[in-house]
Amino acid sequence: MDKSNRHAFETRAIHAAQEPDPLTGAVVTPIVQASTFVQDGIGENRGYIYARSGNPTRHTVERCIADLEGAEAGYAFPTGLSAAATVLELLDAGAHVVAHGDLYGGVHRLLTQVRMRSAGFDVTFVDFSDTDAVRAAVTDKTAMLWYETPSNPTLRIVDIAAISQIGRDTGALTVCDNTFCSPYLQNPLALGADIVVHSATKFLCGHSDMMAGVACVAPHVSTEITERLGFLQNSVGAVLSPPDCAQLLRSVKTLPVRMDRHCSNARAVAEHFAENRARFGLNDVRYPGLPDHPGHDIAARQMHDFGAIVTIEVNGGEARADEVLKRSSLFQFAVSLGGVESLIQHPASLTHKAVPEEQRAAAGISDGMIRLSVGIENVTDLIADLEEAFR
Ligand SMILES: *Cc1c(COP(=O)(O)O)cnc(C)c1O
Repeated sequence: MDKSNRHAFETRAIHAAQEPDPLTGAVVTPIVQASTFVQDGIGENRGYIYARSGNPTRHTVERCIADLEGAEAGYAFPTGLSAAATVLELLDAGAHVVAHGDLYGGVHRLLTQVRMRSAGFDVTFVDFSDTDAVRAAVTDKTAMLWYETPSNPTLRIVDIAAISQIGRDTGALTVCDNTFCSPYLQNPLALGADIVVHSATKFLCGHSDMMAGVACVAPHVSTEITERLGFLQNSVGAVLSPPDCAQLLRSVKTLPVRMDRHCSNARAVAEHFAENRARFGLNDVRYPGLPDHPGHDIAARQMHDFGAIVTIEVNGGEARADEVLKRSSLFQFAVSLGGVESLIQHPASLTHKAVPEEQRAAAGISDGMIRLSVGIENVTDLIADLEEAFR
């Protein structure tokens, strides 16, 4: 583990794995664009051969984020989905995977419409907030358990320590998609998860101006698996480009201050919805920080704060949702989340369109559901914008 791990998170976000450039003294990690590196002799080099297998800018951001997650190793990919796809390459053809029912739509599509066909995966979907249901779904053929918490968009809370225990008892690898929290709010590996995956496009980048993915492997996982993921990153070939690595490294430095504001703004928005539920015509207000949220106690135990995502359900279905989405203005109607600007979107027609209708219904994703990613603008302005949208 990096020596900077002795420092607090905020300090590590700025300094982990980063030293002044030995050549120039540059305080910021240089972008090394070279695709190839000169060899000093046969079998002799300065740590690099060819940029897909290793690049110093990428190594810095990989080691920095691994440090923040308390991981043994981290690997950076050009998107969150390519990180997920490469982690799934750890499995053999025909593997049984137990996955959370309301997964991010793209990961659901990757499992059901790609890997079931190309790798013969057998995938069982189950509500991971029900630990007993997960245990019942696991068989002696189960190779991986895959979940998100809070989940997307229903914000179900999964007990990470309990799922990790199921993984240990059965020998299945446990993978937690930590995108909604970032390592500042939640460290699944410390709670026993084996692998953490991020769409770094979201909070880690935080400015809606790039795409990236990260996968981190826990220190308790065998060296063979940790190294195999590095082998797969190089063999499959999805690597984050050096300029994107530098931009991600810069973004991570402000992660703690951004997340603090995201969380306090989201809490204020959720409380405003909860207090004005009848006037706004809401069937449901979901935020893990609200005391009546079904997973509130587990969230309070395993999260440092409750995140930036608030999900509501308007009565009046898609027509009413459309009205609200069109009337909000600071909350821009767009998919994605985790940027400094507030976004609002409609899961049933956008992020979760790829999920079959009956599975959407089973996961509780209704046509009146709206997901907000609360940004770091002034909270009074944000609430005034919602007042206007619901007027
Ligand atoms: C966005 C997202 C992904 C996919 O990441 P991309 O960077 O868009 O490829 C995976 N999981 C979650 C939870 C996400 O929000």
